Amino acid sequence: MFESNAQTSLPPQESYQFTNGHWFDGKNFRRQIFYSVHGILTGKKPAKVDEVVDLQNGYIIPPLAEAHNHWLEPQSVDEYIQNYLRDGVFYVKDQGNSPYLVSQFRDQVNRPTSVDYITALQGFTESGGHPNQIMLQFKGMGVFPKDWSEQDLNGKALMLINKESDIASHLALLLKDKPTFVKVFLLFSEQYEERKNNPKYLYKRGLNPKLLPEIIRLAHQSGLSVSAHISSAADFHNALIAGVDEISHLPLVDFEDGVSKEHFIISANDARLTAQRGVRVITTISWLSEMKSENPQQAEEALHQVVIPNLRVLKKYKVELLVGSDQFRQTPLGEIMLLSSTGVFTNLELLKMSCEVTPRAIFPKRKIGFLREGYEASFLVLGGNPLVNFEQIKNIRLRFKQGYLLGTPKQ
Ligand SMILES: [Zn+2]
Repeated sequence: MFESNAQTSLPPQESYQFTNGHWFDGKNFRRQIFYSVHGILTGKKPAKVDEVVDLQNGYIIPPLAEAHNHWLEPQSVDEYIQNYLRDGVFYVKDQGNSPYLVSQFRDQVNRPTSVDYITALQGFTESGGHPNQIMLQFKGMGVFPKDWSEQDLNGKALMLINKESDIASHLALLLKDKPTFVKVFLLFSEQYEERKNNPKYLYKRGLNPKLLPEIIRLAHQSGLSVSAHISSAADFHNALIAGVDEISHLPLVDFEDGVSKEHFIISANDARLTAQRGVRVITTISWLSEMKSENPQQAEEALHQVVIPNLRVLKKYKVELLVGSDQFRQTPLGEIMLLSSTGVFTNLELLKMSCEVTPRAIFPKRKIGFLREGYEASFLVLGGNPLVNFEQIKNIRLRFKQGYLLGTPKQ
């Protein structure tokens, strides 16, 4: 777990009084007076108020969060941070990265004026599995040191698990760089044996599902939760019964290789079990936009025949859904608006998913996600009521983080 970075360069936090604001209370917006004292929200007037901020009848919500992305360009991290702050996204969960890259920007995150960030570091997959090809591409682009061989990627960018005895040694290696959780990859695990030695499926496969319970057992023993990449509905099921804590995608519809839509539909039994076990599911439906530009008819089919039914069944059984985009260099704002456009969620449900459930799932030990006495003084001031018009979530007038008023982020 990354600790908060030293704040030597920041001035002391002022105490603020906020007037003329409508504050989100989890159901509605209420006119209230809040103060920020030492970075904490309170309704009690402190002995000294340094500044009164007139919120001009704005609507105040907790900050947004991104539960699935990857920060793979250390030289662009300042730009990433500015983009996230601009869109009101203060919390980011990186679902797989290399310690070599993360160490280059570690001191730029987890500061009051930056984004709060956690990462899984190297994900667990098999030789020839996803996302080996992405790491090879990065190697080709010169992202990693020139003297790294292809074999070096195993352990430095990914953890390749081909047999049970690979698990403990790779986990020990992972723990050295202090990940916050463990990421595992399943892809069409129902066809694991068929795909394993077939070059046609190079990079379109993942871990042996039989090894997953042992990875999870050892990760839990080390105090780390486990998040699973899945492709098919069978992967969703296999991840669930193996005991993962989080599923980092809805099934990713891919009609190649004669696979039909039934392969991607989550069953009611699995949705019920997901809720019973308290397993969280990250949406990541932004791939639909890409599919739409390549094959609009297929994207329509995927949306109406798979994605919407999956969201509905997970909602029906009250599964904890988190917002995540998995779109490199982008924020989850597009994902949030896409979720809104599906019509599956009310504005209230989507607002709570975006600013309560997702932040609290990323940082479960912090007092964030609610605008309440004793919680971190972090919030966004919107120009209008997002419960009436969800587009207002984009109309951010002010950003406040841990007691600091943030300047307008660079465009
Ligand atoms: Zn991802």
